[in-house]
This record gives sequence, C-alpha cells and structure tokens, in this order.
Amino acid sequence: MSAVIEYQWIKIYRDENNIEKFIPQFTSEGKQQHWTETENVPLTKLVIAPISPEVATAMQANKIPGVAVPLPVWNFNILPSDKIKAYWDNEIQLTNHFYCKTCGTQWKHMDSKKWAQCPNCGQTDEWSCKQCGRHNINKDLVKKNARGETNCPYCEIPYGLNRTRYLERIQDVIENTDYAIEVAGKFKIIIRKDVIDVESLQPDLTVEL
Ligand SMILES: [Zn+2]
Ligand SMILES: [Zn+2]
Repeated sequence: MSAVIEYQWIKIYRDENNIEKFIPQFTSEGKQQHWTETENVPLTKLVIAPISPEVATAMQANKIPGVAVPLPVWNFNILPSDKIKAYWDNEIQLTNHFYCKTCGTQWKHMDSKKWAQCPNCGQTDEWSCKQCGRHNINKDLVKKNARGETNCPYCEIPYGLNRTRYLERIQDVIENTDYAIEVAGKFKIIIRKDVIDVESLQPDLTVEL
C-alpha cells in the first residue's frame, strides 16, 4: 500500500457577521492545521474532501505525502449541540526509516534482528565500554538481552555499553488514509477511499445517511 494522504477535513462555520468561513486541514502553503487548534469554533458543516493538486504540491514541498486523487466529497451538517471530532482512525500505521548523519543517505532497514548499517558508506552506530575501555566494538557482538540492555561482550561482570548514534531513526508516514468522524453519543463515520461506513454510537439505534 502506498503511503499517501488523499483526504482532508474542512471545517465550515459562520462568523459574527454570518459569513461562511472555512478552515482546511492543509493550508494553501501545505501546512497542517490540527483539529484541536480550532476545536472551539462552532461548526455548521464538516466536509471531507480530496486534496487539490495545488495543495498536494505544497504538501509535498513540506514533505507531507499529499496526493490529489479524484474522490467524492463528503458533506456533513453539524448541529450547534453536536460535539464532533475528525481524525485518522487508529488503523493508521507509522513506519520509519534511517538517516545516515555521516553521508546523508536515507533507507529502509528491513531486518530488525540486525543493527542498521548505511548501505552507502557503511556507517553504523558505535558501541564502547567504559569498564574495559574498548571502543568501536564489532556490532555483530553487540546483542540486546531480554531486558533490552546491551552489555559489553568482553566484560565478565555485565556492564552496559555506551552507544554513539550516527544513524537516526525517522518516523514517517501514514499507511492508510481512513478518516473517522465522530459525533459524540450519536454516530461514527469511517471513510475509506470511496466507501463509507457508519457505526451507531447509541445502542439499539440504526443510523441512516
Ligand atoms: Zn552513510
Ligand atoms: Zn567491557
């Protein structure tokens, strides 16, 4: 599955002059606005819309993987009494990759049983032991024990190694773009591509769109 963002939320509200205004999740500069920053604005509508080509380009300039895909627009009318929130649901998966501080190469480290190594310049993190004074201990000898500690492979009395990090783990991207919209005590809407599911949050009540 590709790691992209295809939808954004748009909050619609009326200002004190009753003029309709909107707050998009991603600005025309491609910056994300968080839901909670404007959670006290009383909404009249919530729109879940595909990302425009212009905004997608701006998002990509900010290293956010937005793409413009032809998808339906979903409109929801909001009552003043509704407590509503929208979020990427918890099927979101975060992945990560490594960045080599020595040469700048970025890559995906697949074998989690092995320590990462830069595929370009061979850099690894380096381990040293204060107890026996060894530096740059061969990474193949450095093992994590059951408690997640790395002890010196040379010292008979267990002693924790110092790790100098040359490889940085960088968190990326959302693996899917399912949206959840929750109207507290009423229902939850889940949007997956062009499919929409509605779950009632009230027992014994069926929701119809
Ligand atoms: Zn490197
Ligand atoms: Zn040692």
